[in-house]
Formats: sequence, structure tokens, C-alpha cells
Amino acid sequence: MNKSVEIIEVGPRDGLQSEPGVMPTATKVEFIQRLIDSGLRRLEITSFVNPKKVPQMADAEQVLAALQKRPDVWYVGLILNRKGFDRAVAAGCNEVGMAVVASDTFNRRNQGVGTEDSITAWLDIARAAHAAGVRPQVTVSAAFGCPFEGEIPVQRVLEVAQRVAEGNPHEIAFADTIGVGVPAQVSELVGRARELLPGVRLRCHFHNTRNTGLANAYAAVEAGAVALDASAGGIGGCPFAPAATGNIPTEDLVYMLHRSGIQTGIDLESLIDTSRWLQEALGRPVPSMLLKAGNFPRPVQQAA
Ligand code: ZN
Repeated sequence: MNKSVEIIEVGPRDGLQSEPGVMPTATKVEFIQRLIDSGLRRLEITSFVNPKKVPQMADAEQVLAALQKRPDVWYVGLILNRKGFDRAVAAGCNEVGMAVVASDTFNRRNQGVGTEDSITAWLDIARAAHAAGVRPQVTVSAAFGCPFEGEIPVQRVLEVAQRVAEGNPHEIAFADTIGVGVPAQVSELVGRARELLPGVRLRCHFHNTRNTGLANAYAAVEAGAVALDASAGGIGGCPFAPAATGNIPTEDLVYMLHRSGIQTGIDLESLIDTSRWLQEALGRPVPSMLLKAGNFPRPVQQAA
């Protein structure tokens, strides 16, 4: 089993996108800066999509402009097509993440075209990204189930993964977009993807909608995934399940991994402070369990 896992913080994008309100740009920038200060080095900070459809991300360019460019931090912009890619590169993202949905119906609802067209767009984007010196990666969404088509056969997900791998991505992610996955599915998909695509970095993206998120994360690491998405505080519901909890909470994930002997490079105490700050900024409780229960063991108090 890997002794370290890379965590990609997706709170500023996947998390805030599901918030009913729009967080002011300056607050977003402070959120991202605090996450970097807590040790996160790869962050999905915004998406370059139609601002009429996703008003929470309408300030994508302003967020990028306000961030300090650092050679050791990856600022990931989520994109769904070539137009979004061009915007992300112009804004200064050094990594772009494209989403291709394993379910054709979901892909049409989300991106206005079928899965096949999104794969073609991805291959074009991947070429352009490599040429521009921007790191491209791709997510196969709804990899564990679809709100419209129901179960998605593993074979279908693997076929899509094999096709997108032709673009030579930095890594391929499997996303449980609606939070229906269970560990047995994760073990099978990640295990078979490793056999099918040797040498390709695999990442997983889980939502805790049905309380299986952390179990799925552990199964993914056991099966050989080298990176996991998570959101500070566990913010980020799902538009198809309004009452749902969000992404797996970054601090809960870090706690589980560190106590299992798997390193992340993140300062957990600092991250807990960041999520507490976020909770105040949002003005409501966040799903994170560590914020309620606290870290363990507690940091040793200095003797008086
Ligand atoms: Zn998500």
C-alpha cells in the first residue's frame, strides 16, 4: 500500500459551487490562501463554465488574478470544453481538469453534448494543454452510478478511461458524482483500471452522500489510487440530491490517513482551523466530523 497520498482540495470549486449564496471573491481568495498555508499544494479553485448556469464561479478570472503564483502550487481550473480551456489558460491556471461523464444522458444534461463528443473535445484540449505547458488531467464522472441511467457497468467506465488515456493526461480520476459508490465497487474499478492502464496515475473523487465516502477513499488507496479529492469542512452537496452532504471532508480524510501511517504533507491542526474559519464565513455548520469531535491525540499542552 502507498505510504503517501496526494490530496486535491476541491472546496473552492466543488464545495462553493453547491452553496446557495455566492461567496465574495476576496473571501474565496482568503479561503484558498489558508488552505495553502495548511499544506495543500494542489487545489481545484474554480471552473470556467457558463456564469449564467453557475453564478458561484462567475469570478473565475478575478480569483486567479488575486492569487500569488507559486512554482510549488497547482491551481486547477475545471473545464467542460475548449472554450473553458482557453479561458483557464488565459487566466493563469497551471493545471486544467476536464470532466467526461461515463453516462451519455448525464453528459448531455451537464455539458450539452454526448460522451463521445466530450472525449473528442478532451483529446483536442489535451494536445493544446501539452503544447501550452499546462498540465491536463481528466475525470470520468458518474463512474459509480448515474442519476438518470442508474447503474453504470464497470466495463463502460473502463472503456471511457481507455479512450481519455490517449490524451496522455497527468492522471485519470474516477468520480462518484452523486455519492452512490461503495468500497467493493471502488476496489474493482481501481484494480481493473490499474491492470488496463499500467503506469497511469489514478485519482478518486467521492461524495459522502450516503456516508460511504471515507470507506471508499480507503478502498481506493488500497487498490492503488495515488490521489484523492476532498473539501475542507466537507462542503459541496449535489444538485441532484439537495439534502446531501458534500465531498469527503479533507480534515476527516487526513486524520484517517495519518493515523493509518499514510502521509499527506498537510498540517491537520492548521487545516482544522481553516475549516472552522470557513464554517464562520459560511454562517452555518459544515458536515466535517473532526470539527465536532476534535483531533486525537490532542496536541501536547506545554507544561506551565
Ligand atoms: Zn463532486
